[in-house]
Amino acid sequence: MSIRGRLLALAIGGVLPLLIVGLTVLGIVWSEKQNQLNEGLEQQAELAAVVFDRWLDAQYQPLKTIASYPPNHLNDKSALVENLKAALRNRPHWIDLRVLDANGKAVATEPVGAGNLPPGLAEKLVGEVGRGVPDVETDWTLGEGRYLLAVAVPLEAGGAVVARIEGAALKEPLHGITLPDRAVVTLLDQRYRVVYRSQTPESAIGMDLSNSEFLSALQNQNTGLVVVKSSIDGVERVYGLGRVGKTGYIVMVGIPSAILYASAWRQLMGYAVVGLIVVFCTMTGALLIARSIARPVRLLNFAAEEFGGGNFSARAPTDGKDEMSRLGMNFNAMAERLQKREERLAELDRLKSEFVSTVSHELRTPLTTIKALTRLLMRDGLEETKRREYIETISVECDRQIDFVLNLLDLSRIEGGVLRVTHERVEVGEVISSVVKSEARSAEKRRHELRVEPQPEVPPVCADPKELRRVLSNIVENAIKYTPDGGRIILSAGKEDSHVVISVTDNGRGIPAEDMPILFDKFHRGRPAPHSVAMAEGTTNAEFLEDADVSGVGLGLYLGRNVMEQMGGRISVDSEVGRGSTFKLHLPLWSDGGCNKPE
Ligand code: ADP
Repeated sequence: MSIRGRLLALAIGGVLPLLIVGLTVLGIVWSEKQNQLNEGLEQQAELAAVVFDRWLDAQYQPLKTIASYPPNHLNDKSALVENLKAALRNRPHWIDLRVLDANGKAVATEPVGAGNLPPGLAEKLVGEVGRGVPDVETDWTLGEGRYLLAVAVPLEAGGAVVARIEGAALKEPLHGITLPDRAVVTLLDQRYRVVYRSQTPESAIGMDLSNSEFLSALQNQNTGLVVVKSSIDGVERVYGLGRVGKTGYIVMVGIPSAILYASAWRQLMGYAVVGLIVVFCTMTGALLIARSIARPVRLLNFAAEEFGGGNFSARAPTDGKDEMSRLGMNFNAMAERLQKREERLAELDRLKSEFVSTVSHELRTPLTTIKALTRLLMRDGLEETKRREYIETISVECDRQIDFVLNLLDLSRIEGGVLRVTHERVEVGEVISSVVKSEARSAEKRRHELRVEPQPEVPPVCADPKELRRVLSNIVENAIKYTPDGGRIILSAGKEDSHVVISVTDNGRGIPAEDMPILFDKFHRGRPAPHSVAMAEGTTNAEFLEDADVSGVGLGLYLGRNVMEQMGGRISVDSEVGRGSTFKLHLPLWSDGGCNKPE
C-alpha cells in the first residue's frame, strides 16, 4: 500500500469512529426531539379535551339548577315551564329543553311545540344519567351534516333534564384554542363520528372514523399519539389524542409531520452539515498532508530510478527544512559522490586504454628499430664503424626497454605496497655525472646544451644509488623531451638546511598552473597550450607540433615521487609556461651514524 494510501487509511480510521459517534448522537438528539414534540402534541390534545369538558360543564350547569329543585316543584308544571323558559332564554344555540321522567317520557318541554326526541334517545339519556352523572349524546337525526348535542343531567327522583344544543356552538370554545400553524382540531363522539373539525368542517362533519387507526392508538389510556394519513384530506399528520372525561368523546390535535418536525429537522441538518464540514476538512487536511509527504517520496523515488538507470545528474528536490528535504540532501550528496566516482572510473578506463596503447607504442618502436638493425648486421660486408654504431644503438634501445619494463614493475610494486629501496651513502656528484653522461647523446640529438653547474663541496646523501639515478635520469629525459630543440638544461646540487638538493632547470615549454596539482598523478600527461610553446625561446609552432608528439606514458614523475618518499626525500617543481621548469630532488644528508630511515 502506498504512503498516501496508508495516511488516508489513518485519516479514515480516525474520522470513521467520529462519524459513527456523531451519527449516534444525532440519532439520539432526533428521537429526543421527536419525543418532546410528540409529548407536546399529546398535551395540546389533552388541553383541548379539558376545554371541551369545561364547556360541557358550563352547559350542564343550568340543567343541574333545574334538577336541584325539590320534587314538589318539579310537579308544578307551570313553574317548571317558567324555569325552562328562563334557562333557554339567553342561550341562542340551545334548541329545546325538557324534563324526562324515569321512563324517558317528557314531563315538560320548552318551547312547547318542540316535539319529541328522536326514538331511543330519551331512553338512552335517562339510562346513562341513571348512574348519577351527566351525559352527552349526539343527535344526528336532523340530517344534511347537521347535528345536535343532547346534554342531560340526572334527576334525584329518576329521569333527566335534557337540553339539545346546536352543533355549531362547539365552534366557540374549540376555536379559541391556540394551536401551532396548520394544526387541525377534530372532535369525535362516542361512535367516532366527527362532530367538529377546525379545517374543512362541512365535508368532515358526521364522517365515521371508527375503522381508522386512531382508535388503536388510544386503547385504554386517556391520551395517545398516532401518525396517520387523514382520510378526510389525505395529509399525513401526527395526531395527539385526548379523551374528554367520561363522555366517550375524543379530541384529536393533528399537525402535518413535515411541519411538526421541521424545526427539529433543520437543527439536525445543521448539526449534520457542521459534521460533514468537519469530516470534509479532516479528509482534505489528511489528503494535503498525505500529498506533502508522498510527493517528495515520489520525486525521490523518481530521482533514484533515474540515477539507477544511468542518469547520474538526477537529483532529488530539497526545498524546505523537514526530514524529507534532509533525506533528499543526503541522497544528493550520495549521488554527487557516486557521480564523481563514476567519472573517475570512466577517466581511469580512458587512461587505462590510453596506457595500453602507449605501452604498445613504446615497446613496438624500439623493437622495430632493433629488428631492422639486426637485419642490417646480418648483411655481409658491413663496415666496422657502421657495425659498431648499430650495436651501440641496439644496446641503448635495449637499456630503454629495460628501464621502461622496470618502471612498469615499480608501478606494480608501488600499487602492491612492496616497493623497497636501500639506504646507502651516495655521492651526489657521481650520480649527476653518470646521468649527464648517459643522457648526453639524446640531448645532443636535440641540439640541447646539457651541462652541470660548478658546485662547491656537496655532502654525501642517504639514498638508493640505482633508484636515485633512475629518478634523476627521468627528470633530465623530461627536460630534454619537453624543451624545444636547441634548449638549455642545467644540473646543479647544493646543501639546503638538512638536505641536499639536486636541481634540473630547463628553458622549455613550462607546465600550466592548472596541471600542477595533478602533475605527479599516475598516467598524467600534460598537453602544452599552443601559445606557451610559441613563447618559448627560439621555438616555432612547427617545433611545438613535433614536441607535442613526444613519447611517454605519464609514469616517470609518479614513480619518482614515490621512490623519493621511500628514500626519505621529496620532489618539488617550479615552472612558468613558456619560460621553463626547475625540478628539485630533496635528499636527506648522510650522517656517520647511517641513515635516518623514514617511518
Ligand atoms: P611522461 O614524460 O612519460 O609523459 P612523466 O610522469 O615523466 O610522464 O611526466 C608527466 C608530465 O609532466 C609530462 O607528460 C609533461 O607534460 C610534464 N612534464 C614533466 N617534465 C616536464 C618539463 N621539464 N617541462 C615541461 N613539462 C614537463
